[in-house]
Amino acid sequence: MAGEPQDDCLFCKIVGGHVPATIVRETDTTVAFRDINPQAPTHVLVIPKAHYPDAAALAAGDPTLAADVLREAQSVADEDKLESYRIVFNTGPGAGQTVFHAHAHILGGRGMQWPPG
Ligand code: IMP
Repeated sequence: MAGEPQDDCLFCKIVGGHVPATIVRETDTTVAFRDINPQAPTHVLVIPKAHYPDAAALAAGDPTLAADVLREAQSVADEDKLESYRIVFNTGPGAGQTVFHAHAHILGGRGMQWPPG
């Protein structure tokens, strides 16, 4: 069923407390934690607690929850006092997605290039 925890999902294990993470924020519906391989001074992942494989599935399956993720991105930026930041949803292996539980990367604290690599 859509949103149900998956036994083989790393981020579901973080939600369940079975894999440690540096959690910076938590709400009823989301968790935000520091990326294990940071690409910027602030690199936080915001995930829905419910399992959706990517951002597109999240938006289609639960638009309110997708909005919760975006709202939390702003809260992470506020806590780290970021005036500018980038939100990235890698969607699909060709775009660099490696963990198939929807997540927003919040990147900030350094200058950014456009277009991204
Ligand atoms: P993706 O490549 O867009 O799917 O992003 C997955 C992100 O998860 C990468 O930036 C990884 O560094 C990060 N990551 C993988 N395992 C862990 C972990 O156990 N804790 C925190 N971040 C992780």
